[in-house]
Amino acid sequence: MRFDILTIFPQFIEENPYFKYSIIGRAINKKFIKVKAHDIRKYSKDKHKKVDDIPYGGGAGMVMTCQPIFDAIKAIKKQNKGPVIFLTPHGEKLTHEKAQKLAKKKGVILLCGRYEGVDQRVRDKLIDEEISIGDYVLTGGELPAMIVVDTITRLLPGVLHDDNSALEDSFTEKLEGKKEYPHYTRPEVYKKMKAPKILLSGNHAEIEKWRKAHLKV
Ligand code: SAM
Repeated sequence: MRFDILTIFPQFIEENPYFKYSIIGRAINKKFIKVKAHDIRKYSKDKHKKVDDIPYGGGAGMVMTCQPIFDAIKAIKKQNKGPVIFLTPHGEKLTHEKAQKLAKKKGVILLCGRYEGVDQRVRDKLIDEEISIGDYVLTGGELPAMIVVDTITRLLPGVLHDDNSALEDSFTEKLEGKKEYPHYTRPEVYKKMKAPKILLSGNHAEIEKWRKAHLKV
């Protein structure tokens, strides 16, 4: 699966160790996914490579202009036929269900806003979906884009050592859409706190029952 991320800070993506190590790093090395950052500024036709301007109607902050984003998306769409997603607090909240739907695509194009966001005409004309990672405001869309990449990637077959682990996580069908039961590991007693005896019993039916009873809505 291919992720093309449009940003004015491509180095946030390219130089990010999060994409170099562990599960996501391995997924990239093994070519399960490709993550490519695109510098929106490179597409600017302004002689100073400007990508923002003051808002019509006045007010604080700057707005990302149409031209560089229109041209960047046009170019990237030649290589990635997936939906164009704008990360914004206005968007639909990211959920496991949403990630599952996106994980079926061959690619997605992720647009990261900065400042006050992007000119509304970008949203009206170019954006297929808008995603929010929560009801709070970040300084830019790069972290939300990386969160989208992470949550989709771990759902792709072969990415995790054991594909079953993604099928048994919180929000999955196996857990009836609920949140996972508590986990314990060695030692059996730590600072006088004991792991539940049932989990050490070897009785799989009883363990299953205990786990089911400890799912969280
Ligand atoms: N003026 C905007 C508002 O009030 O909704 C906030 C702009 S924010 C400072 C700059 C950019 O960060 C946004 O355009 C968006 O791309 C990204 N962003 C901030 N919070 C986000 C969130 N909760 N989910 C997704 N993207 C977010």
